[in-house]
Amino acid sequence: MSEGADFVWKECLNYIKDNIPEKAYATWFHPIKAVKLQGKVLTIQVPSKFYYEYLEENYIKIVKSSLTKNLGKDAKLVYQIMMEKNHRTETPYSVNIPSSQKAQIKPQEVDAPLYMERGVANPFVIPGLQKLKINSQLNTNYTFDNFIEGDSNRLARSAGRQIAKRPGGTSFNPLFIYSNVGLGKTHLAHAIGLEVKRIQPEKTVLYVSTEKFCQQFQEATKANNRNDFIHFYQMIDVLIVDDIHFISGKKGTQEVFFYIFNHLHQSGKQIILTSDKAPIDIQDVEQRLISRFKWGLSTEIQTPDYTTRLAILRQKMEFDGIALSEDILAYIAENIKTNIRELEGALNSVIAQSTLNKKEITPELVEKTLANLISNSKKDITIDYIQKLVCDYFKLPLDMIQSKTRKRDIVQARQLAMYFAKKYTNASLSTIGTQIGKRDHATVLHACKTVGNLFETDRMFKSYVDDINKKIVAEI
Ligand code: ADP
Ligand code: MG
Repeated sequence: MSEGADFVWKECLNYIKDNIPEKAYATWFHPIKAVKLQGKVLTIQVPSKFYYEYLEENYIKIVKSSLTKNLGKDAKLVYQIMMEKNHRTETPYSVNIPSSQKAQIKPQEVDAPLYMERGVANPFVIPGLQKLKINSQLNTNYTFDNFIEGDSNRLARSAGRQIAKRPGGTSFNPLFIYSNVGLGKTHLAHAIGLEVKRIQPEKTVLYVSTEKFCQQFQEATKANNRNDFIHFYQMIDVLIVDDIHFISGKKGTQEVFFYIFNHLHQSGKQIILTSDKAPIDIQDVEQRLISRFKWGLSTEIQTPDYTTRLAILRQKMEFDGIALSEDILAYIAENIKTNIRELEGALNSVIAQSTLNKKEITPELVEKTLANLISNSKKDITIDYIQKLVCDYFKLPLDMIQSKTRKRDIVQARQLAMYFAKKYTNASLSTIGTQIGKRDHATVLHACKTVGNLFETDRMFKSYVDDINKKIVAEI
């Protein structure tokens, strides 16, 4: 580092420090190093492109005044940034003041990549590696090869394939895959990531669950290294965020994700999101983020049809090295319809039953095992259970829906409980009415109609119904 540069930059810093908030100073100016001073051209090194952009957007005026103050009117500033990994040959960003007159400096002016030094201390990066290498967190069992194609997932699968060939280069950015649980979102998301790595191993791919993302962000905030967190995510070429609906209600995380999303999208990087709802139905997420979710392709994975279920079973059977007769496979595929995870679970139970009891897998054994699976779960859904679930969902005490009150939100909860009791139990309208707040059968009938109407017309209400429905279905 040249002494002159150091001296001048320190003087500038003194001036800047007095003119901006302390925290902003610490965040944006501490990490900068003065590199050299040639005549009136000061070169400073910033940790990343993101820093450069941020400084340009927010602090260029103050930097300019400080520099003019120290070096005179024709002072110039050159930024150097270190790109991640070994993009050593990439031309560093260089900017003259005024910043609109961009000029380039020669690549050889780049010194040791700063990011490598930072990487060691960066909690998001595996330490001790020469190059910045990120563990993609991809599950190698979830490939395209074993992701059976069917009508239910054709669009999502084929979009995924195209993305894998040209990440960031298709109009499917972001790719937003949504479905109920157990229908293959996570599997497909991993498959895309693995395929990108197979075709272009040098691409930085990262799979992260939304929960983990939120947790990392909280930890980074606590440890005061939010910038490292942001930089880390901004370096990814293909970012896969699973179950993005969990970001609901988390303001800070939404904000930082918005920021990262924009950066990646603008730099032509690929974003893949999964969710249990369509973007429009996600609650408690900022509108600007929802609208971005819709920028690329949103596609639903539906419940698989019989043929697809059979194909999935067949594949799983082959994978496990087990032979089952066609009859048996057909029986399982016919009876387990809504969820592929359960389909696999049923097959596993049949196999386990046969192994444990040293019995041959006969149609009777399969029937018995599945009957257990099906009836065990069904008997839990009672009117009481539904009332409790609805109350929990709205955070109401149970006696509220039992009471006579006609307050709007309580009436709504009561009607929902009636609706779901009708849907999921065999109880008569009058039994339901008696158990839910001592009403008559006409009230229950009316409740069911009202719920049906609101479901069609009121988006918020629809999301309540969908959420509660999911919770009940998860129990079945
Ligand atoms: P989701 O993320 O939608 O809840 P998962 O991706 O976890 O669902 O899928 C549940 C299980 O079903 C996984 O074991 C997955 O491998 C399997 N699965 C889902 N879709 C398919 C498919 N099309 N072909 C083969 N297996 C599938
Ligand atoms: Mg999943």
